[in-house]
Amino acid sequence: MSNQTISITDSIYKYLCDNSLREDKNLSSLRAHTYRMEQRNMQISPEQGQFMQLLIKIMNAKNTIEVGVFTGYSSLCVALALPHDGKIIACDISTKYTDIAEKYWEDANVRNKIDLRIGPAIDTLKTLIDKGMSNTFDFSFIDADKINYDNYYEMCLQLLRPGGLIAIDNVLWSGDVADIRINDIDTESIRSLNKKLHKDSRVDISLLPIGDGLTLALKK
Ligand code: SAM
Ligand code: CA
Repeated sequence: MSNQTISITDSIYKYLCDNSLREDKNLSSLRAHTYRMEQRNMQISPEQGQFMQLLIKIMNAKNTIEVGVFTGYSSLCVALALPHDGKIIACDISTKYTDIAEKYWEDANVRNKIDLRIGPAIDTLKTLIDKGMSNTFDFSFIDADKINYDNYYEMCLQLLRPGGLIAIDNVLWSGDVADIRINDIDTESIRSLNKKLHKDSRVDISLLPIGDGLTLALKK
């Protein structure tokens, strides 16, 4: 036992999954589909998806934003956890990926909850702000191009109501953020947002070592 977060070995990870995952069959099929793709590592892990579903339910979230859809696993998790009149504004630039997402959303009967916006996420978020939707969203998941993470954070913070939650993915970036020899643009972008969030008094935060690192930021 230790007072530090446990290191997850393969056998501990298997135990965790075997004893806690309750993955919906549509989520399992989508995960199997994505696993056959070269870009499969872009998908969030199933235990992270289940954790996000719990967050949605704890908060009674209804209006949500997703920045970075890919083949739709995280959006399907959120959509399944939302009430029947819940909504996701889902942003991506690639229909190549979201065409796959749409099929699985349809199979899971949640297509009506997801408003897919194809185009640079910055433009979509700006449109929402310009339409007067600031302070109206309950939850936002940020998981697109890392170089724009700070822009996504600032725009989502504006769009969230006080008490709304932003979840930011890949904040540990396979551990690269902790290695000072690594200074590529993606690592630097995540590192600088992590640093900013640490001191940002507009939010309460927790950096969780789930998946590739997930920061939760609760708007005050
Ligand atoms: N959340 C997804 C999941 O659980 O499967 C994974 C998202 S993947 C890591 C990142 C996605 O961001 C890709 O589908 C990519 O097309 C999209 N993306 C990259 N740049 C973008 C941009 N400027 N605006 C919107 N989406 C972008
Ligand atoms: Ca991710």
